[in-house]
Amino acid sequence: MTTDFHQVAKALSFETRAFIDGKYVNAASGKTFATVNPATGRELAQVASCADEDVDRAVSAARRAFEAGSWSRMAPRERKKILLKFADLIEANLGELALLETLDCGKPISDSNEVDLPDTIETLRWHAEAIDKLYDQMSPAPHNVVSMLVREPIGVVAGVIPWNFPLFMAAWKMAPALAGGNSLILKPAELTSLSLLRLAELAADAGIPDGVFNVVPGLGEEAGRAIGLHRGIDCVSFTGSGEVGRYFLQYSAESNMKRIVLECGGKSPAIVMPDVKDLAPVVENIATGILFCQGENCSAGSRLLVHRSIADKLLEQLKPVFAQWKVGDPLALDTRIGALIEQPHLQKVLGLIERGKAEGGKVTFGGKQALVESGGWFVEPTIVENVRNDMAIAREEIFGPVLSVIPFDSEEEAVRLANDTNYGLAASLYTEDLNTAHRIAKAIRAGTVSVNCYSEGDYAVPFGGYKESGFGGKDKGLAAHEQYTEQKAIWIQLG
Ligand code: NAD
Repeated sequence: MTTDFHQVAKALSFETRAFIDGKYVNAASGKTFATVNPATGRELAQVASCADEDVDRAVSAARRAFEAGSWSRMAPRERKKILLKFADLIEANLGELALLETLDCGKPISDSNEVDLPDTIETLRWHAEAIDKLYDQMSPAPHNVVSMLVREPIGVVAGVIPWNFPLFMAAWKMAPALAGGNSLILKPAELTSLSLLRLAELAADAGIPDGVFNVVPGLGEEAGRAIGLHRGIDCVSFTGSGEVGRYFLQYSAESNMKRIVLECGGKSPAIVMPDVKDLAPVVENIATGILFCQGENCSAGSRLLVHRSIADKLLEQLKPVFAQWKVGDPLALDTRIGALIEQPHLQKVLGLIERGKAEGGKVTFGGKQALVESGGWFVEPTIVENVRNDMAIAREEIFGPVLSVIPFDSEEEAVRLANDTNYGLAASLYTEDLNTAHRIAKAIRAGTVSVNCYSEGDYAVPFGGYKESGFGGKDKGLAAHEQYTEQKAIWIQLG
């Protein structure tokens, strides 16, 4: 495999049209918008800008396919075969898709190659493999009654996707939604449409029938809003900011009460207890927790809660690890921190660092924009000490490689600080004591608590947030299938 990704990128052509009813088409209005490479600030392509009319066409096609039953009534084992073929085709085109991901969202090519794409493929395989092993239920009933509880596909599902993991987050939606027999409309974030548009062709090549898999690129307030308000959509599964998540609850209320599932932001703590003797693996995990994906990760461990007695020692060991996270050209294999998604986001991250300083925080590592000459939007890995949990830097989701350090003096204080946030997506905890691990894991109000590692668990583990981090259901694991199915009770009186 060549590693001259710049050379390969030059030869790439981009699919920029919507994919509706098995065909690539321009937006009905003919309008387009620019998608930009965050590492250079230069335009990559003009993408079809879909709005009401395009969403309408996608919904009609999706509904028609659903009613026709070519997918919705196909035997689960046959759907499984097609989805496994889809996964194989993605794997066969992994290099191209990974390159599209990196060019469009600025993340390191090694992440796209080794994390985003493999995880997308495995997510599809996991749900495909599950679907012919899921049984319905029967409820307790009188002897002359048969009472069945059956799960049916909900119908037309829309997945509204963020820009930080364009394919992987789409996989969390499309794998269980398609496996369950639904028709699907995906709307990529306007900043990162390219990989998902290319994927549509592979879905068709795998044998997913026309109308079952649609991709409508477009601006949030146009294509996204049209999806939210469309009466022909039965469920929207959204991943993105809490602000936009709330819009979807309103859209649903204003239209057909469609099911809304939200996966939103986080401000996750990493708690280090004083009994930890070997800090080397802990600092590696803390660094990965906040620096992976430039910190543009919903479950990023952005608040380091460390017992005061070991804080100095831990930070002394953490800084050399931060220094190993090279900020650089996303197309270089040794780059571990790529570009932030766009200029306004860079300004937001730098602004929050400045606010942290103004409120009494002390930047002890990084803190500045990097590689300014590239024209892209890079930030140094950053550590801010002297942070209090009531400061903006400790409360707002930064979505950048910025770690806030907050010392604590007791287990009770650690739990109180961990829970003192509007979010509840994830937390990690480091201790050598099993009792402490169980006690704190139970006390934290978050959807995922990882102990002695930074992790969201694997494909089999449901993922979703407490409080303002989530609403209405879970992604991943068998729990994800509940989002995309209705449960029907069938009560049969025997003669
Ligand atoms: P965003 O909320 O700005 O956008 C998400 C999607 O909503 C995009 O497709 C966008 O086009 C669309 N949208 C924007 N405005 C809209 C509107 N008015 N009406 C309808 N749709 C609209 O989020 P983002 O900036 O793309 O992603 C970052 C956010 O996603 C962060 O808050 C992050 O924590 C969250 N996230 C959460 C998870 C999770 O699983 N919990 C995973 C990844 C990202």
